[in-house]
Amino acid sequence: MADAMEIVINSQSITDALQKYCSEFQTNISELKPLQFKAVQTLLSKKDCICALPTGYGKSLIYEILPFIVPKCIVIVIVPLNAIIEQQILKLYGQSFSMSMSKDTVDLSITKYFFFHPETVLISLEVNKLFRSVKFQDYNKFLVIDEAHCVIEWGGEFRKDFKRIYQLKSLVSCPILALSATITKAGQTEIAKCLHLTNYEVVSASPAKDNMKMVVMNRPSPNSKGNTSFTPYDYIFVPVLQQLKSEIDNFEITIVYCKTINWIGYGYELAKQILGDEFHSGKPSEKTARVMMYHSSMEGSDGKLKKHIVETLQTERSTIRLIIASVALGMGADLRHVKRVIHAGPPTSLETYIQEIGRAGRSHDDALAILFFNKSDIASAHMTREMKDYCVNSTICRRSLVNQYFGFETQEVKQFSICCDLCNNELGIEYDFSKLSAN
Ligand SMILES: [Zn+2]
Repeated sequence: MADAMEIVINSQSITDALQKYCSEFQTNISELKPLQFKAVQTLLSKKDCICALPTGYGKSLIYEILPFIVPKCIVIVIVPLNAIIEQQILKLYGQSFSMSMSKDTVDLSITKYFFFHPETVLISLEVNKLFRSVKFQDYNKFLVIDEAHCVIEWGGEFRKDFKRIYQLKSLVSCPILALSATITKAGQTEIAKCLHLTNYEVVSASPAKDNMKMVVMNRPSPNSKGNTSFTPYDYIFVPVLQQLKSEIDNFEITIVYCKTINWIGYGYELAKQILGDEFHSGKPSEKTARVMMYHSSMEGSDGKLKKHIVETLQTERSTIRLIIASVALGMGADLRHVKRVIHAGPPTSLETYIQEIGRAGRSHDDALAILFFNKSDIASAHMTREMKDYCVNSTICRRSLVNQYFGFETQEVKQFSICCDLCNNELGIEYDFSKLSAN
């Protein structure tokens, strides 16, 4: 790699780089956060970096800023999902490339960021040719693995090319940045092993965000006397929808995660019943609904409605106030105005739970995460021990429990009042769930 990599950064050089970055992409960021700075510094010292920072911290800025610091710089980003690629292409408009753009040639003097699926980057002859070209070799390069926990989660049979990403190192020899929001210490070691990293540093912060109130509540069990299979869901949906009906556009944007499409559909139909004329924000159409469903089989492959949902939720005055979603609403969706995440049942792992509640509180305002569980949930064989422990725990601060699992010390919480329902049982829960009893 060229001499350019012997760059030492200081606050002035970072300020200059950020100024150029901001004017290029019309955004406003005045400084790098300490851990963004540390990650950039690690890469510039030619070391690999595993970066585990909570959602909303600004992980992508770590690689986006590099071409503004390092001359003749190319950033290759491996991304598991189209939604993330599309979002980044839009953000880095004019300087980014993905295979789906089907350009004939790539102008290296303009293009700084290359986005690929793991499957494409490993098998495409075009990509291979590009990476081997003399011109390309001449550039300073960085390889980024976004959502790096997929390397371990999806490295099995499903999308097994994730496990082969290390093979890229023979084509592009350069510092590697592995990004994720939720990896345990053991997960970090596993990622390093999968990517064949030897000389690397870990830059990490607790995934339990300071601005997040964490609450766990019982939901009725369908098997208890007098209950039906609908009871556990009515218990959650009815108060939430009544609140939405009374607050309408002042209702804080909320996601309710459900495990199956049937229950997502049930919540949606209930919303139509309860909200009546208020279900739509204008002339009734698919796009004026205040309540939306989001799941993997909601429509054909063109994804227009999903795109509409994500784009609307990025606006300050979103007409969509409630999203009833499956795990499909997850990685990479930058839904910065979501304030509450309610789980109508625990996900299978604590990693997934933390990822999903991370959809709220990205704007740094206070956010709320409520997890509902019942006896049947706890009896499930498809849930990790840590997830069950998180549900049934009634003594240890919930933030501490999450920190313990991910290997962090719990700092004294700046605002004790927003920690969790075990630290503060007066925590403001806006809904009155008690109207329906939790048996
Ligand atoms: Zn607490």
